[in-house]
Amino acid sequence: MIIQEKIKIIINSSNYKYYIQILENIRKGNEYEININQLHNGSHSPILVECDICHKQLMKPYRQYLESFNKKGIYCCSPICAQIKNKKLILKNMVVKMFFSI
Ligand SMILES: [Zn+2]
Repeated sequence: MIIQEKIKIIINSSNYKYYIQILENIRKGNEYEININQLHNGSHSPILVECDICHKQLMKPYRQYLESFNKKGIYCCSPICAQIKNKKLILKNMVVKMFFSI
């Protein structure tokens, strides 16, 4: 999950087109504080996140966080935690199937 709520961004020629749609009166070269969910999906800005499996906190580029999170709605910090996540999801599916077959 994302721990950090806000982030400072600097407007430049490559992100201007995106941020002009969500912020008013912006100028290139200026710094603005925005909510994390307003960041461009492809942003490389590092943000503070927490692993949903081992609860370790770390800085991760927003883009990489979304790549992991969007797969199953769970963020994993490492391949080891991803394995645990997969086992949990398989188990959850089995329980759901058992419930509906009763
Ligand atoms: Zn982890």
